[in-house]
Amino acid sequence: MLVMKFGGASVKDADAVRNVSQIIGSYLEESKLLVVISAIDKTTNHLERLAWLAKDADEKATWTQFEKIRNFHFGIIEGLFGADAEGVNQKVAGYFAEIERICRGILLLNEFPLRTYDRIVAFGELLSSCILSQFLAKEGYAVACPDSREIIKTDASHSHAKVIWSLTNQNIQDLVVPLFQSSQVVIMQGFIASSTEGKVTTLGREGSDYSASIFAQGLNAKSVTVWKDVAGILNGDPRIEAETVKLDALSYSRAVEMTFYGASVIHPKTIKPIRNAGIPLYVKCFKDTSLTGTSISKEGELKQSNDVCIRVKKKNQALLTIQPKDFSFMEGPQINRIFAAVAKVGVEVSLVQATAISLMLCATMQEATISELESILLDDFNIEIKRELVLNTYINYGEAEWNAVGESLLVQRAGNKLLVVSE
Ligand code: ASP
Ligand code: MG
Repeated sequence: MLVMKFGGASVKDADAVRNVSQIIGSYLEESKLLVVISAIDKTTNHLERLAWLAKDADEKATWTQFEKIRNFHFGIIEGLFGADAEGVNQKVAGYFAEIERICRGILLLNEFPLRTYDRIVAFGELLSSCILSQFLAKEGYAVACPDSREIIKTDASHSHAKVIWSLTNQNIQDLVVPLFQSSQVVIMQGFIASSTEGKVTTLGREGSDYSASIFAQGLNAKSVTVWKDVAGILNGDPRIEAETVKLDALSYSRAVEMTFYGASVIHPKTIKPIRNAGIPLYVKCFKDTSLTGTSISKEGELKQSNDVCIRVKKKNQALLTIQPKDFSFMEGPQINRIFAAVAKVGVEVSLVQATAISLMLCATMQEATISELESILLDDFNIEIKRELVLNTYINYGEAEWNAVGESLLVQRAGNKLLVVSE
């Protein structure tokens, strides 16, 4: 069993869907496939905007946006099915009727809570999976398309729900595995799930990679392949760096580090479940399947050339400098208090450095959590906060990177990593 994930860009128009169908077909000769699909192109953004327009009570703009999303999807259907579209049209029209109902509710109540967010954005993946699965069926494949909301179970933290592994794995065994008796390929929606109370939840933006890894560990798949529009994982962001190289192989831990420090190529939560199950992940290019891509596995590190410096950037960081008011040393009790507060409010820490009478914390800027942390610590500590900073991380750094460190607020060298916080 192989698991594959196709992102929104890979199905952005009718030709792109045909290309995905061809890739799927070429693998079906060797193996059964579970395919995870994201919403088509930027549909999730468009659905978010739709709901916000409704929340702003802008009725005209709401329905214009609604039509735009609807026409876009029906345009792709037309391009794929021509006159043969009755079945898919009916199902897709049903989804749009539901989206319309949710919009009317938001307009009426002038409310857009996160549980409604999850309900509405889920349609991106429901639409794409419906279109892709029906197209594969038209191409003659035996295909099933169950609903990920009934399989992946989470807590009720809407928009960034946490997976309940025992229930999810049981559902994969009971509801997904049997489908392979009569199907060659099972298409699942990425990103979407439901809580134990049966409410729709989502796993966080760009979470379809994570969905693929959830299914892969549940099925004990041979591998996961994430199809992208780039040649593989690069050592830097080609939009910023003049020269980048493709990394052939990475270890799980290197991949986790890269995503933690800001590489956006795969969702940060993707690696853990497959690493624990020892399942390799391949990043490949859907535009040119002959390219070798990047493999992430236990052995990756051994193959990886150690002299390639990997550069990643994490934006939207804050730097907190915390000092005890009574001038006591930054020792166990003080550190303990600070971290108890960090854990309580859920600050996303990127980097820590302690000196005699101060502790510096670089963290992802979420105004609400940072202010709550401040209010808990304010009685005993002086806190200075600098906002809108960038954390640059260089893995396997060399002299060139070290010499290039310019004006910065905090520099840390840890093993083969150089971390620089600056404005
Ligand atoms: N469609 C969702 C998003 O755009 C999930 C994904 O693409 O992975 O965030
Ligand atoms: Mg997407």
